[in-house]
Amino acid sequence: MSEIEIKCVQCASQTKEATDITLVTAVEGREVVITGLTGTRCPTCGEEYADAESAEKVEEVIKKFRKPAVVFKRKITKSGGRRVLGIPEEIDRALGKKENVDIWLEDDKIVAEVY
Ligand SMILES: [Zn+2]
Repeated sequence: MSEIEIKCVQCASQTKEATDITLVTAVEGREVVITGLTGTRCPTCGEEYADAESAEKVEEVIKKFRKPAVVFKRKITKSGGRRVLGIPEEIDRALGKKENVDIWLEDDKIVAEVY
């Protein structure tokens, strides 16, 4: 690993390489904690600077937590004593001929993986 020369913008000290940077951010009102990021840290004031690789990682994690721009609202109906959830037309079209689905629950989300 090469020496990174980054001066702290807060106090102008020479920062030192760090591999245990933790970032706390909020996505859609939920607190997201990302640990084990790489970058540099100021030994004087503790200011942390994530490197480009870490910034990319953070971006990816945030994307996962963010709701897509288009969300279809549906009501769960009853059919033959079972609760049924219709697939919105737009999503059905995107699925094409796939007809197998693995369904599981993640907190209050029903996740359906179609293949
Ligand atoms: Zn500093």
